[in-house]
Amino acid sequence: MATERTLSIIKPDATKRNLTGKIVAKFEDAGLRVVASKRIHLTPAQAGAFYAEHKERGFYGELCEFMASEPVVVQVLEGEGAIAKNREVMGATDPAAAAAGTIRKEFALSKGENSVHGSDSEASAAREIAFFFSGLELVG
Ligand code: UDP
Repeated sequence: MATERTLSIIKPDATKRNLTGKIVAKFEDAGLRVVASKRIHLTPAQAGAFYAEHKERGFYGELCEFMASEPVVVQVLEGEGAIAKNREVMGATDPAAAAAGTIRKEFALSKGENSVHGSDSEASAAREIAFFFSGLELVG
């Protein structure tokens, strides 16, 4: 399997509850390596641009507001099959449906406030990494 990079966001509900370290430990335990990391506070417009693909969905406004409500930690994770592996470690969108041991099962509050974001394909990983990081900031 190829070495990949994927974009992760530790969302406001998790940074607010001081869970950043516990979540990063889950990534590292799964063999994912943090090759870029920064803590930022998004504006609603920046959150809206990031989630543009969801703009027709009913939860879009609420999602943008939530993502701008507190700081987030954006990271690039690297590893064998990193895109799928990260999705596995995250668990299902709705914590009620997430498998035991996943980040969302252990930490998410609801389907919206679900602690982490992870790219869902190679194309979105490339777009999402470029949204937050320049090449110089990726240190493998
Ligand atoms: N979301 C929501 N309500 C929903 C579905 C999604 O608030 O009914 C939010 C949630 O924070 C989710 C994000 O929108 O993580 C993006 O949705 P997607 O379906 O892409 O889920 P993900 O890829 O994050 O599991």
